[in-house]
Amino acid sequence: PELSDQIAAGEVIERPSSVVKELLENAIDAGSSQIKISFVEAGLREIVIEDNGSGIAPNQLDLAFRRHATSKISTKADLFKIRTLGFRGEALASISAVAHVAILTNTGGAAGVSATFADGRKLTQKPAAAKKGTRISVRDLFYNTPARLKYLKSETTETTKIIDIVNRIALSHPELKISLKSEKKDLLLTNGSGDLRQDMAHIYGRIVASQLIEFSGSDADFVITGLMTPPDITRANRNYISILLNGRYIKNFQLSKAIMAGYGSKIGLGKFPIFVLNIKLDPLLVDVNVHPTKQEVRLSKESSLSRLIINTVAKALERNSN
Ligand code: ADP
Ligand code: MG
Repeated sequence: PELSDQIAAGEVIERPSSVVKELLENAIDAGSSQIKISFVEAGLREIVIEDNGSGIAPNQLDLAFRRHATSKISTKADLFKIRTLGFRGEALASISAVAHVAILTNTGGAAGVSATFADGRKLTQKPAAAKKGTRISVRDLFYNTPARLKYLKSETTETTKIIDIVNRIALSHPELKISLKSEKKDLLLTNGSGDLRQDMAHIYGRIVASQLIEFSGSDADFVITGLMTPPDITRANRNYISILLNGRYIKNFQLSKAIMAGYGSKIGLGKFPIFVLNIKLDPLLVDVNVHPTKQEVRLSKESSLSRLIINTVAKALERNSN
C-alpha cells in the first residue's frame, strides 16, 4: 500500500474491534434495518458483516475504497453538520491496506458486483448475483504489519472489545436488528423493536432491566433521554456508561462526570451505574472531526449540557425514591 494509506490505517484501525466498528457504522449509514456480524479468532482470521442497506454501485466501488473519498459529505460546510456516522472516507481504504478484503454488493438492480482488495489495491472485480445490500469479509487482519499484530492483547480481550463496541452501537440504534456471532457462539441478537430497555435487558440482564429508571430532560439546545440503574445497582468501572450523541457512541469525561454528579453522594466511591444517555442536538453544536475514530468530540455549551444532565439525573432519582 501507499505509505500514506498505511499511516492512516494505523490511526483508524488499531485492532479487530476497530474494523467491526467502522463496518457496522457504514452499514448503519447505508440505511440498513438488519446487520449480521460474525468473526473468527477474535477477528484476526476473519470478520464478516452483511447488511441490507443501499449497496454500492459497481462504478462507485473504486471510489469507496479510495482514501478521503466519501459519499456522505460534499462541501466544507457539510463538515459542520454531520448527520452520518462516517464522513472521513478512511475506513475501507485503511482496512484494505492491512487485510484481505472481499466485497459483494448490490444497489437493488439486476446486477451486483463482487471484488477483492489487498495491500490497498483492487485485485479483482466482476458482476455477481446478490441481494440488495453489502457483504464485506475482512481476512488476515494485520498480515502485513507484524508490529501491530504483536501489540494486540489476548484473543479473549480482543473478543471482549468486539462485543463491547457492538453492544454500544446496538444500544444507540435499538431500531436495528443486529446480530453478532463468533465461531463459538451467538453473542448478541437484537430484535429491532426500538425498545432500549429490551436491548439493555439483553445485554445487562433482565433483573437489571426491570429496575432501570427512565429519565428525560431538555433545554434550549439539548434533549436528553435514557435509562439508568438506581444507586444500589452498580458496577466497579465506567464501562457500563454509554453516552450517545445523535446516535454516535462517544467517550467524554466531562459528561461522565456529570452523570456521576447527578447521583451525588447516593452512589458509593468507585461505584458506577449502568447508564445509557441519549443526547440529541443540532449537529452545528458539535465537532466530530477531532480524531480519526470519531469517538472524541468537541461540544459547544458542554457546561450547560453537564448541568442539564446533573439536574435530570438527580430529579429522576428523587422521583424514583418517593
Ligand atoms: P465514510 O464512511 O467516512 O464515508 P468509508 O471508507 O467507511 O468512509 O466508506 C467509503 C464509502 O463507501 C462510503 O462513503 C459509502 O458511500 C460506501 N460504503 C461503505 N460501506 C457501505 C455499505 N455497507 N453500504 C453502502 N455503502 C457503503
Ligand atoms: Mg465509514
